[in-house]
Amino acid sequence: MRKDTAAVHVGVAQDTAFNSVTTPIYPSSTFAFDRVGETRGYDYTRSGNPTRTALEQNLAALEGGTFARATCTGMAAVSTALFLLSAGDHVIAGNDIYGGSYRLFESVMPRFGLTFSFVDMRDETEVRAAIRSETRMLWIETPSNPLLNVVDIAAMVAIAREHGLITVADNTFLSPYFQRPLDLGVDLVLHSTTKYLNGHSDVVGGVLITSRDDIGQEISHLVNSMGLANSPFDAWLVLRGVKTLGPRMRAHERNAAAVARFLKGHPKSLRTYYPGLADHPDHELAKRQQTGFGGMVSFDLDVDAINPDEFFSRLRVFILAESLGGVESLVEQPWTMSHAGMSEEARRAAGISPGTMRLSVGIEDPEDLLHDLAGALG
Ligand SMILES: *Cc1c(COP(=O)(O)O)cnc(C)c1O
Repeated sequence: MRKDTAAVHVGVAQDTAFNSVTTPIYPSSTFAFDRVGETRGYDYTRSGNPTRTALEQNLAALEGGTFARATCTGMAAVSTALFLLSAGDHVIAGNDIYGGSYRLFESVMPRFGLTFSFVDMRDETEVRAAIRSETRMLWIETPSNPLLNVVDIAAMVAIAREHGLITVADNTFLSPYFQRPLDLGVDLVLHSTTKYLNGHSDVVGGVLITSRDDIGQEISHLVNSMGLANSPFDAWLVLRGVKTLGPRMRAHERNAAAVARFLKGHPKSLRTYYPGLADHPDHELAKRQQTGFGGMVSFDLDVDAINPDEFFSRLRVFILAESLGGVESLVEQPWTMSHAGMSEEARRAAGISPGTMRLSVGIEDPEDLLHDLAGALG
């Protein structure tokens, strides 16, 4: 099945009792045994649940994987991936990854003996230089957050293979609709399903997807042991949301492209970040590696000309809020919001300033979005 068809159908219609066209929600925490040692595939919802399985089958198909586990949040998926490692292991990650991942890597995981190096992943020499004998994992997030730098996934996979490292790709920003890292040789893909996969800003969730049996089995063990599974109701909501992934992603991209062109030509936007712009430094790579440029646009507001608070208060359609990937357009200031967990030095090193604005461009009428930005910029 092609992706628009798979999103609508895979895993969905499995009801043998009444031939329901959509997936039933099974909220039951426990399932009866027919006799000792004999179940109908499920015994306890932390370990497995039919509604969650439906979602996992759907998302595995969309990413081109053979195994998926849906988790209670995106950070639960990130945590699970790290628990594939053991004390003493070292991880190399980009220096501009999601703020919550950075916080976990920086402030929690070192207590369990993991160490991290944060590098500019667009620079292969820097990545190679960071590899040590204890290095076990390469953590890829592309396009990056919030500046939309693009990492060459195939190049990272090649380096990882030379050194026997596990590659993990956080594919939240593009969704499998626009990028499929497993096809490029990545071992494990994860998402915050909170974002584009659900797409309606009414769930937090995550997912891990792989085609490697060994990694899949270990992830199943970890999610069950640590108790990180997605609730049946939330899984059902994500399965409902994902059916419209294609139409939504196409609308996000159309609007993001219009917003990026507008901002690029606006005197109060000092710099516009969107991989779809021909002058974006990674434009050619993005064209080759992705099947679309996505719905995220960032820009540097000229804070000498307009105060960020004034800009936010004049917006009528864009909502000042964290998160991304929902149908509604959001704006946020990484400096004080999504990336506040990073030290000032780390934020500066990643190219984030107080004027940096991140837009999650929604699926509204693009004319209303441009009009809103024009009005707020003055
Ligand atoms: C939101 C996000 C996460 C974390 O997901 P939650 O659902 O908020 O826990 C991880 N990675 C990226 C890129 C994200 O945008």
